[in-house]
Amino acid sequence: MSEHTGDEVHGGADTWAAGGYGFETLAIHAGQDPDPATGAVVVPIYQTSTFAQSEVGRHQGYEYSRSGNPTRTALESCLAALEGGRTGLAFASGLAAEDCALRTLTGPGGHVVIPDDAYGGTYRLFARVLERWGVEHTPVPLGDLEAVRAAVRPGQTSVIWCETPTNPLLGIADIAELATIAHAAGARLVVDNTFASPYLQQPLSLGADVVVHSTTKYVGGHSDVVGGALVTGDVALGEELAYHQNAMGGVPGAFDAWLVLRGAKTLGVRMDRHCANAQRVVELLQSSNKVASVLYPGLAEHPGHQVAAKQMRDFGGMVSFRLTGGEAAALEICRRTRIFTLAESLGGVESLIEHPARMTHASVAGSSLEVPADLVRLSVGIETAEDLIEDLGQALAAA
Ligand SMILES: *Cc1c(COP(=O)(O)O)cnc(C)c1O
Repeated sequence: MSEHTGDEVHGGADTWAAGGYGFETLAIHAGQDPDPATGAVVVPIYQTSTFAQSEVGRHQGYEYSRSGNPTRTALESCLAALEGGRTGLAFASGLAAEDCALRTLTGPGGHVVIPDDAYGGTYRLFARVLERWGVEHTPVPLGDLEAVRAAVRPGQTSVIWCETPTNPLLGIADIAELATIAHAAGARLVVDNTFASPYLQQPLSLGADVVVHSTTKYVGGHSDVVGGALVTGDVALGEELAYHQNAMGGVPGAFDAWLVLRGAKTLGVRMDRHCANAQRVVELLQSSNKVASVLYPGLAEHPGHQVAAKQMRDFGGMVSFRLTGGEAAALEICRRTRIFTLAESLGGVESLIEHPARMTHASVAGSSLEVPADLVRLSVGIETAEDLIEDLGQALAAA
């Protein structure tokens, strides 16, 4: 390793990223060469806060684990490669990553355009934290490009914040079109790619400036760690983000970084199964007279289907649906499933069910982002499809 010079960025893409390798190869190898000191095939957990220096200012690239840690570097390089970016940065949570992106890209007097069905915690960050810091936000339906253009304030808007598919309504936004609108106004497009994962969708290749992840979800994939990430293809912006990452300090510990990296190795095969199982679940829901509507971008009648088909490899593992029996039926189904565990979060190997209005999205009640009370959200896991169909079928029959 080269001698340390100060503010170097540890999460740079490595030689694997430039090698033309496929997604699964990068997931398993990018940033993860065998340990030079021992030959360990798996990146070690460097559980240390500080690093010895041979003389003042002379060390092997690491000084202090907030600024950089080799386990985290491996994860950051891997994430950069998976998103097709140049700089990856790992955080202690998705919201820590979001906060870092927003503190870097906006400031007092600034303005951001946000989705009108943003993740509840994201909305809370804009409405309760950034608002007090002097950053205004305008919620718009991102599927309506005219509404987005009308909401942008040239000279003041510095960020268009995009989620696609959205949580929990599975709305779809056209990333390439939003990038064009953002750049014409001198703003940046930030895409929360948590629901799709880099396996299904690569926003940087569609013109986005920064990708955000809650790696708690599909990237980690096992519901055993909370984490976040930022990836950008712009090296200068990457350095600014890395500066803020270090200055604000919301970094993951070495073990958490290791868990996310371990999860990332199997992201491709897990996503294939999530998508296949979701397709089976959608078919069941469509055949039930208890279900008023199914929200899934893979359905031809979904308003965002064409855009989703253009920018995604497949349609993902998240499925929402509304009940003819209203909120009472929604709550009853959440009570009656056994394999689908009633819990917040998503993207793990196990199937989860939840009631967004009272759980994940309780914080947006009464706002323009309020979600319908008859809505149920599923994170379809990778269990045996027949067992999932059976479980959901009996819950629907009883509701
Ligand atoms: C969970 C989630 C977040 C927040 O991530 P944390 O890891 O919980 O901080 C942000 N965006 C989306 C779409 C999410 O699902």
